[in-house]
Amino acid sequence: MGKNKKIIIAGPCAIETKMQFFETIESIYHDIDMIRCGVWKARTSPYSYSGQGEKALEWIQDAQEKYKICCAIEIGTLNHLNLALKYQIRHFWIGARTTGNPFAVEEISQNLKNKNVEIWIKNPIFPDLQLWIGAIERFKKNKTNSIKLIHRGFFLENSKKYRNQPRWDLLKKIQKKYPKIPIICDPSHISGKRTLIKGICEKALKQKVDGLMIEVHQKPNKALSDSQQQLSPKKFKKLLINLGLK
Ligand code: PEP
Ligand code: MN
Repeated sequence: MGKNKKIIIAGPCAIETKMQFFETIESIYHDIDMIRCGVWKARTSPYSYSGQGEKALEWIQDAQEKYKICCAIEIGTLNHLNLALKYQIRHFWIGARTTGNPFAVEEISQNLKNKNVEIWIKNPIFPDLQLWIGAIERFKKNKTNSIKLIHRGFFLENSKKYRNQPRWDLLKKIQKKYPKIPIICDPSHISGKRTLIKGICEKALKQKVDGLMIEVHQKPNKALSDSQQQLSPKKFKKLLINLGLK
């Protein structure tokens, strides 16, 4: 990475169909470093769309070969990890709900030891810096090959503007504590709505984050999860241009 180059990660909140997934990649992969795509969605309600599971892993393997770009997925269990490795996926993130679960983090991190994989650790749901640090330390202690962090905002009971409140003060603390670990901002899950994404990106870049992870869907209004916050490929491209990242 050059000095001013930012890591740009984008893709759908969740893979829904092979066509939706491939069409989305087709329209953005030239402009980005990596695809994000949800396979198992940690939904609050058991009745919400929860992803395609193993079927989607096959599509990811095909996509990685066809477009020569890496895809990253969320894992929350050892079973997720083992299945994903079988389909040649090497980039994972720990979702906000899992970061605060020491059993899951310990189990996953122990099984990543000495594997050629990369893990991104999202901040936990609640603004408890020690919980985030605890998860980071587990991966470090268990010798994970490569670590990045993701600021996705924090749950606030009375938050009006944002879905998850950004905490630039906590971001600064974590940057100071781990100066060598790259940190990515996820403006999609912070803002919860399309109109706020650009402002969050600008603030994050001012805070010298190393990259951005943004949800993009071919038809955002029809998305089965997070439809309010996903950008169309056209809007995403415009955003990158406006931010001076393209
Ligand atoms: C996601 O990135 O798809 C996701 C579910 O995010 P979070 O864990 O931040 O809620
Ligand atoms: Mn999402």
